[in-house]
Amino acid sequence: MKPFKLAIASGKGGTGKTTISVNIAYFLNSDHTKSIKLLDCDVEEPNDALFFPEAELVSTKEVTQLIPRIDTDACTFCRKCAEWCEFNAIVVIPPVKFAEVNASLCHSCGACLVACEFDAIKEYPEPIGTISYLNTGIGAGLAEGRLKIGSAMQTLMIKELKKDVSDEHQIVIYDAPPGTSCPVVETVSDADFVILVTEPTPFGLHDLKLTVTLLQDIGKQFGVIVNKSGLGNSDVFNYLDNENIELLGEIPFDREYARRYADGSILKDIPTDIENRYRTIVDKIALRMKAYEGNNNS
Ligand code: SF4
Ligand code: SF4
Repeated sequence: MKPFKLAIASGKGGTGKTTISVNIAYFLNSDHTKSIKLLDCDVEEPNDALFFPEAELVSTKEVTQLIPRIDTDACTFCRKCAEWCEFNAIVVIPPVKFAEVNASLCHSCGACLVACEFDAIKEYPEPIGTISYLNTGIGAGLAEGRLKIGSAMQTLMIKELKKDVSDEHQIVIYDAPPGTSCPVVETVSDADFVILVTEPTPFGLHDLKLTVTLLQDIGKQFGVIVNKSGLGNSDVFNYLDNENIELLGEIPFDREYARRYADGSILKDIPTDIENRYRTIVDKIALRMKAYEGNNNS
């Protein structure tokens, strides 16, 4: 059976989304299922692995993108490929017989290859980043995508990461990039449920509203975790209430617990109050997972 896919997202960086992703993986593994896989889809700045300082690197895989190259001996400098390229990745200057592809703008759509009638374009693989597989001691471990600096191929990398999702896993957690742009949409696109992480501040509420609109537009089920509760004000809670959005739980701000983030020991000696709150949240997720399994078995 296909795994239950849970995406954890936030409208902005700094809400504690990664802390919450890692803790949810930890408590789901401890209380509900050992068959859990964590994917770090924040491929520009992956940091789930920081939470597992003792993790063993199992393997790495290079991810490549097919980039066209123009053979200027065969090229007639007709400019058709440049006209077909929607991403303005091709520059052709006929008077000086110049034709080149800008790899950083290319989306590997293949249109230029179709456009060229002179067989002057061929594709070659170019590395865009790596996927690392780590044994974290939690379920099936962590797969981390990391883009090469300068590459803009976040969605391609996220697609590659998701190829690791297998029917052997009961649940897969996607730690999404922050924001509401294409990489976020790519991450949540096949999720069965999305958790939005926010904080009770005006900025948190502003970005939460943007993400809620995005998820409603693409028809995703979601709930919200308010992190660092106790700080800020009650506007986020009022908004959730007014909009009838499920509050999955609150994680209070705890200075000592935040300090452990810095030294990578956040999964050790978790304060009892925070532990209980995570257990309540993962119980709710487990219920959704069981409902999903029931629906997909019948
Ligand atoms: S593959 Fe697509 S994006 Fe890349 S250069 Fe060709 S037309 Fe442009
Ligand atoms: S379509 Fe082919 S021949 Fe024309 S400019 Fe592009 S590469 Fe050259």
